[in-house]
Amino acid sequence: MTKKWVYFFDEVTEAEKCAGGSWEGVRSLLGGKGAGLFDMIRAGVPVPPCFTVTTEACNEYQKTGKFPERMWAEMLAALKKVEAKTGKKFGDPSKPLLVSCRSGAKFSMPGMMDTVLNIGLTDKTVEGLIRLTGNERFAYDAYRRLVEMFGTVVMGIPDEAFEKPLADYKAKKSYKIDTEMTAGDWKAITESFKAVVKKQKGMDFPQDPFEQLRLATEAVFKSWTGKRAVDYRRAAGIPDDLGTAVNIVTMVFGNMGSNSGSGVAFTRDPSTGEKKMYGDYLLNAQGEDVVAGIRNTEKIEKLGQKLPKAYQQFLEICAKLERHYKEMQDVEFTIEQGKLWMLQTRNGKRTAKAAVKIAVDMANEGLITRDEAVLRVTPEQVDTLLHPQFDEKAKERAEKEGRLFAKGVNASPGAAVGQVYFDANIAEKMSKSEKQDVIMVRPFTKPDDVHGMIASKGILTSEGGATSHAAVVARQFGVPCVVGASAIKIDLDKRQMFIEDRVVKEGEWISVDGASGKVFLGKIPTIVPLIEEQTDLLTLLSWADEICARAGLRQAPKGWPTSGLQVWANADYPKDARRARSYGAVGIGLCRTEHMFFEPERLPIVQRMILAESIEARKKALDELLPFQRSDFEGLFEAMDGYPVIIRLIDPPLHEFLPSAEELQEKIIARRIQSMADYILGKSEGKDIRDMEKMLKAVEALHESNPMMGLRGVRLSIVMPEIVEMQVRAIFEAACNVTRRGIKAKPEVMIPLTGTVKELEWIQPRLQKIAKQVMREKRVSFPYKFGTMIEIPRAAVTAAEIAKLAEFFSFGTNDLTQMAFGYSRDDAERNFLVTYVEQGILPKNPFQTIDRDGVGRLMEMAVEDGRKTRPDLEVGICGEHGGDPDSIEWCHMIGQHYVSCSPFRVPIARLAAAHAALVHSGKIIAEDK
Ligand code: PEP
Ligand code: MG
Repeated sequence: MTKKWVYFFDEVTEAEKCAGGSWEGVRSLLGGKGAGLFDMIRAGVPVPPCFTVTTEACNEYQKTGKFPERMWAEMLAALKKVEAKTGKKFGDPSKPLLVSCRSGAKFSMPGMMDTVLNIGLTDKTVEGLIRLTGNERFAYDAYRRLVEMFGTVVMGIPDEAFEKPLADYKAKKSYKIDTEMTAGDWKAITESFKAVVKKQKGMDFPQDPFEQLRLATEAVFKSWTGKRAVDYRRAAGIPDDLGTAVNIVTMVFGNMGSNSGSGVAFTRDPSTGEKKMYGDYLLNAQGEDVVAGIRNTEKIEKLGQKLPKAYQQFLEICAKLERHYKEMQDVEFTIEQGKLWMLQTRNGKRTAKAAVKIAVDMANEGLITRDEAVLRVTPEQVDTLLHPQFDEKAKERAEKEGRLFAKGVNASPGAAVGQVYFDANIAEKMSKSEKQDVIMVRPFTKPDDVHGMIASKGILTSEGGATSHAAVVARQFGVPCVVGASAIKIDLDKRQMFIEDRVVKEGEWISVDGASGKVFLGKIPTIVPLIEEQTDLLTLLSWADEICARAGLRQAPKGWPTSGLQVWANADYPKDARRARSYGAVGIGLCRTEHMFFEPERLPIVQRMILAESIEARKKALDELLPFQRSDFEGLFEAMDGYPVIIRLIDPPLHEFLPSAEELQEKIIARRIQSMADYILGKSEGKDIRDMEKMLKAVEALHESNPMMGLRGVRLSIVMPEIVEMQVRAIFEAACNVTRRGIKAKPEVMIPLTGTVKELEWIQPRLQKIAKQVMREKRVSFPYKFGTMIEIPRAAVTAAEIAKLAEFFSFGTNDLTQMAFGYSRDDAERNFLVTYVEQGILPKNPFQTIDRDGVGRLMEMAVEDGRKTRPDLEVGICGEHGGDPDSIEWCHMIGQHYVSCSPFRVPIARLAAAHAALVHSGKIIAEDK
């Protein structure tokens, strides 16, 4: 069958047939605009007669540089049909037909490609138009617009070549606005525009309307590969091989007097989602005048007073279009001498807030199902709604004013404005005692910076990546954070940072945008949202939860979960757990117990415990720590009453709890200089110096070249079991105490960094013995589990063995990614990961989104093998990927029970889990990959 290049507007069924019956296929073939026009016509909406040249013709043109064979003949045949429909004739001076030539790709690329209006006007036909309309001013206005558009778009003449003579003319006549121009003025301008064409191109403006149409069509094809369009496609992820369609549409004129007009409108408010028409119009004007903002437009609702009949019809059509597309529409219309014409309809772009409201409203109106409503909102939109936001316009203004200072990794979303401090203690002091808004700036952060980070409104580091300490902690506490802004040089001594000659000193204001990774000088206004106030969002999320709770959603072997994913949270403190509950988390998937060791009153005890020279001395220090931990755990169980709480036993290497060797050496030297006199007099050194020296020795003894792979996790528990023995006692005492108070505690003890089942065989029975002993002592019992993190590839590969002891697995994908790739999670982003992603070596940053082929495969294998040993093995994820929508989909596909993420990401994860459930509904887990 020979290919058809051109479709007439009543050939939508044929187009559908050619596209295999799918509307998506029609959109690919005729472009979004063409498909929308044809569909409106089919629905009985008044659209000017038109035809569309397919995207396939454009692709053919891109290959050969020529129109495909027969395409022009098909265009001429279609033009004949338009003539018959309109009773006008292309190029006929007595009744001239004028058309527009508009680009229209499958996906909207606003303003990126070309359009030419009023094609068909020539020195002869303009006279006909005057006779037809009795309006000479209008006819010459239309003609000069054609010469200008044709000149710039088709012939490539710069805009200024036309703008200048018009501006000079108006100045000479002392006109301020275009409406002051008379028929004679536009006629004169048309002549001078034609002279511009002649001067610039050495040829006359084409007086053959068919030549105009041919060249305009070619120009639209060419604009597909223009720089603007190519750049836009790169940014929006639109493939290059889609091509653009060309729509040839009969011109209708909104500038034919006061009973004519043009407008653009949304069927609901695109910024709030409110169900009311939202848009602008202008009487006696063409569509481009409305968009260009040269004249002050009127609110759309006022049109009802001016042209009530047309407005009423317009409202009815809009309602019909919404019902037809079941989506908020963005429409363009023209009223020509009282008659309404629709020129475009498409799904309207909207803010995150409007997206949620429109989805919920449409489901409540019965227009769409709740499942569809949930799918209409993206997890990113939920993210946007929950973090303080910069006012977009203010941000754009700041960029224009040159206040963009640096760009880094967008580690934790939200907007923060504050004064810069370069030290955690000062940051905390300025925030607490001086009540300042603080931005803490560091090269990178460490666990003992946490107090400063929590006290800050925002965090900025010049090193580290998406899973660096700063990023993880910031996300956990919902503090906006940009990491790895490597252009910034920080001078901690002078307390300032700089990029070349731009210096920011301590106390100066900056604005940190955690969503985009941008850092601005000075203050940018913010808007703060509260989840409790976002009733539509809460409704939507409750629908998402209902979807995930459906049994039979996943088909899988016995013991595997068949409903969707649950969302748990990573929370260390009771207040985080309460927040997690209020955001809808139904479990704690990770409590990093060691974070509690950094509290100011506990750290000295922890250090004493580490430095202890005998087991007795260590146990004594641990006895002092136990009540602290117990009360923390009680708070967690209380907040999570009835929901599981996974508590991870100590994980980091011990040196993290001690000062660095350099810091200690400096302090010792400073102290010695201070007590030089005592030294000369032969007095013995003070106790503080001796203590510091002891600490230095311990630090040196604990030094490891590669601490992330050193004495940490379960290894530390085996070398020094007293610490985890204390922790397990604290967990079970806390659980017993709260159970007695009527609270349902469900502790799950998690052993980190297991690499071989032998480690579990060594430590787990000892700990289980303590658990049982405490419950016996207190005469209380409750459900509990012992399980492990899967963070080491060997653990994933030997999961069948590990599951003999572990009652649950939790994927620690931060470490699992680090060890599977062999990339340091703290340095990779700074050194090469960004380049890797830019060069396409990696599709995405694997510390943000699970690498399904490698790390994901290890996870999948671990789930399957683990459940071969223990069919009801509970499986979840607690690495940073637990809040990433793409990774959440993977967790659903491999049959996990839950994902766990920072409390602030819980709502995003709830929506992403529901999306995964809907997209993969009914699929068999083991085969669905
Ligand atoms: C992990 O490795 O994914 C994890 C959650 O543990 P941490 O980030 O504390 O090492
Ligand atoms: Mg880890």
